[in-house]
Amino acid sequence: MSSIVLLGSTGSIGVNTLLIAQRYAIRVEALVAGNNIDLLNQQIALHKPTLVAIANEADRGRVNHPHVLCGSAGILALLERSQSPTVVNALVGYAGLAPTLKATALGKRVALANKESLVVAGKFIDISRITPIDSEHFGLWYLLNQRPASKLYITASGGALREWEIETMRHASYAQALNHPNWSMGDKITIDSATMTNKLFELLEAKWLFDTDQIDAVIEKKSIIHALVEFADGSTTAHFAGVDMKLPIAFALRGEVSEPILPPTDLLGMGAVEFLPIEESRYPIWSIKEEILAKPHLGVVINAVNEEAIDAFRRGACSFFGMSEMVLDAYKHFERVDPHSIEEVVAIDQEVRAYVTQPR
Ligand code: NDP
Repeated sequence: MSSIVLLGSTGSIGVNTLLIAQRYAIRVEALVAGNNIDLLNQQIALHKPTLVAIANEADRGRVNHPHVLCGSAGILALLERSQSPTVVNALVGYAGLAPTLKATALGKRVALANKESLVVAGKFIDISRITPIDSEHFGLWYLLNQRPASKLYITASGGALREWEIETMRHASYAQALNHPNWSMGDKITIDSATMTNKLFELLEAKWLFDTDQIDAVIEKKSIIHALVEFADGSTTAHFAGVDMKLPIAFALRGEVSEPILPPTDLLGMGAVEFLPIEESRYPIWSIKEEILAKPHLGVVINAVNEEAIDAFRRGACSFFGMSEMVLDAYKHFERVDPHSIEEVVAIDQEVRAYVTQPR
């Protein structure tokens, strides 16, 4: 691959992407970051990108680069100016949607970590231009072998509070919900793991990517198995790999990889592996799983309220379960919306945020 544009370079996926880029001598034409200007400056010194964009105009003077674009319009302008055929979208949240749409419209391939793009607007995204960077979807792709599959499974770790008594979970703090047992990831996805919203999002992601409703999730606490495929013949295969995003990133950037990215699975060292159901009493959001798979266009509602709920939880304005209550309430309130264009998606996103943040 000639070169990439990297959106979200200072985040967990962004940093791993740069390690893979370095390993394979992939040129990084453009870097986009938010507030972590110190790390961005280190990345600029190492990768010498032609184009740079940051979230806030106020930080422009601190960036060691002659041409710095700013804000969401700056990211879109950067994409327009870039020559690279591939964009790695590792932005977090709704902010990632417009760049995904812009990059695909420009005819670029998108290596997509920003799952919120598909959750919010999967119906309006050209899937043929998307390669997912998510360990579960990578695992499914790896297993699917042109044989007829009857069901796809992804696994969940259970998140930071998985061993807690339900009563105690009610009083969990933001810091406690960030204490993920297996993965080191950005804050938002870590909170989404604790509430199981992340897995609901991944089911929606899988629905768009693999065009199937036959998809479910189970808890596998060691995060050794990321995906399983049940085939029409009655056999099931599982994808084992280490807890490290460099593997899906390497495949997304290279297409195929034949040299070691991770150490092989230690079969004798792993001990017992078990699969557990996702219980609605611990993860209330799971109660709408079937409905949301049948109506994936409602992903825009769930995503908008979820982002506001996480913000409220972070500020101490709602409890851990309060987040799921907010999501389920907004889901009921907006269950009849059915966007027919990306403009309608954007309008619904705004309406949901206004509804959930209004003083009551
Ligand atoms: P992080 O929070 O670690 O990183 C987010 C990145 O986006 C940072 O570089 C941040 O900049 C940047 N950013 C945020 N807002 C803006 C903005 N408005 N303008 C420009 N840059 C912005 O998140 P992760 O890397 O964990 O996750 C990224 C995406 O990948 C998410 O959608 C997540 O669900 C998905 N994902 C993550 C996995 C993981 O292992 N981390 C696994 C699978 C999917 P800064 O830090 O400088 O403010």
